[in-house]
Amino acid sequence: MSAPRPAAILLDALGTLVALEPPAPRLRAELAQRFGLQISEADAARAIAAEIAYYRTHLDEGGDEIRLAALRRRCAEVLRSALPGEGAGLDLDPLLHALLASLHFTAFPDVRPALESARERGQRLVVVSNWDVSLVGVLRRLELEPLLDGIVTSAAAGVRKPSPAIFAQALELAGVGAGEAVHVGDTLDEDVAGARAAGIEPVLIHRGDGPPVTGVRTISSLAELASLPAA
Ligand SMILES: [Mg+2]
Repeated sequence: MSAPRPAAILLDALGTLVALEPPAPRLRAELAQRFGLQISEADAARAIAAEIAYYRTHLDEGGDEIRLAALRRRCAEVLRSALPGEGAGLDLDPLLHALLASLHFTAFPDVRPALESARERGQRLVVVSNWDVSLVGVLRRLELEPLLDGIVTSAAAGVRKPSPAIFAQALELAGVGAGEAVHVGDTLDEDVAGARAAGIEPVLIHRGDGPPVTGVRTISSLAELASLPAA
């Protein structure tokens, strides 16, 4: 007799469901197109890295649409101050549009089929992500939202992974206990440690190259969710 399947699968977003397309070439193209500003690929990479670092620290301030708009303006200011030459004098609102156009998310190809078959098996699916509230719109645009039973962002929850409190909110949305769920994510510090702290079996998704990770159940594709037994 096979082990029972988990009743719910909690899922990280970035690196697990969605990828950020390389933003520096897109930013460079946006700046050239919108402002006629020519900067090097290295300068674009440096500027977007500064913006992303600021965003990652402050993303929990984007807990509703109004606060998100303010956070995004601060992100655009960070980007502007990191731009070389005439970039430092660009108007903030059009620069914010260029920034948002540079951040393009795609779904990994294994995501949709894996979520669809999990639903067919009756498993509940809830996203748990350190992201501002705009994640809901990202997942909607990628047509993944209808496959999900819930989306918990750290900005809306008021707490971020690895805190067990954000996983507790996801379990409540899924309507299951910690022992009936697994959490799939791509980071040890946020996903694996956080799930364990919440009493949830972690599953590390290890996409692409890199050294193997020991001490945690590891998959290389979400297709492997189909054969995942409960903890
Ligand atoms: Mg991730």
